[in-house]
Amino acid sequence: MDSETKLKKLLKDKGYSITKPRLIVFSFLQNMDGPVSVAELAKSLQDIDKVSIYRTIDLFESAGIIHRVWTGFKSRVELSEEFSEHHHHFTCVNCGKIISFDSAALEKSLTSLEKSKGLELTHHSVELTGYCQACRG
Ligand SMILES: [Zn+2]
Ligand SMILES: [Zn+2]
Repeated sequence: MDSETKLKKLLKDKGYSITKPRLIVFSFLQNMDGPVSVAELAKSLQDIDKVSIYRTIDLFESAGIIHRVWTGFKSRVELSEEFSEHHHHFTCVNCGKIISFDSAALEKSLTSLEKSKGLELTHHSVELTGYCQACRG
């Protein structure tokens, strides 16, 4: 099932209708390679009125389609793992840049931790902060 079909099914199952703004916001988020602020999103999608965008974001969040990435008290949104590959974020404390990454080594050490402690992990999130390459030094 492709992502858009999956989205439509999810909206339908939850009793929401499939509207054009919802599809546009979804495909915009799909094409982003990192989290985006709702203000940036609204700026990029000027054909849709702001109220619809904010409502769509609220709905997507409560339906688990997107999740928020927090940097201090500011947040950005991205598609949830239902719709994107599992990954982690690094946030630069100086310029605010967010870098998404995945690490097989990290996943592997979490699996071995899980086994050695006799746990069953259902979810994990690893958020890194520091200085990006440009801001170092
Ligand atoms: Zn930086
Ligand atoms: Zn992970």
